[in-house]
Amino acid sequence: MTRIAIYPGSFDPVTRGHEDIIRRSLAFADKLVVAVAVNLSKQPLFTLEERLDLLREVLQEFEGVEIRWFDGLLAKFAQKNNASLVIRGLRAVSDFEYEFQMALMNRQLFSELETVFLTPAVDLTFLSSSLVREVAELGGDVSDFVHPAVGRALAEKFA
Ligand code: ADP
Repeated sequence: MTRIAIYPGSFDPVTRGHEDIIRRSLAFADKLVVAVAVNLSKQPLFTLEERLDLLREVLQEFEGVEIRWFDGLLAKFAQKNNASLVIRGLRAVSDFEYEFQMALMNRQLFSELETVFLTPAVDLTFLSSSLVREVAELGGDVSDFVHPAVGRALAEKFA
């Protein structure tokens, strides 16, 4: 049996924190679908195409990873991809309430779907895409937090 997991998110842009969660997921998933959400309520910095391109570049060395996008319900997308696991990262207590709600709702919608929460390396727990965007916009150095390709893309956006 192939165990397929989905890692959904905005990835606006992908950070070392996401990479860490992806690496950890591949220890128990045979295939990981990194799924970029077309989120109607969020105005992203990077377009969907840019986010997908950055993921392709950053994750090219990872085996067993597929990069896709989705809109609509995650539970439906998971079902369509024969996924049995949803991967989410938990950084702090502040992530917990929303994640808990989402996990229960997704299970309600598709009972075979289990959500797995992973914690990143401790030095990445403070990291988020929004913080990276903010620091980059203000001219700070983000090279410790993102792949060089993402660093270049951020520099171009804020040039
Ligand atoms: P969303 O908009 O769905 O929160 P993100 O791209 O911000 O999407 O994050 C996708 C998932 O990755 C979420 O579960 C988030 O908690 C997790 N994540 C993001 N950054 C980190 C990090 N530094 N460490 C662990 N998990 C992270």
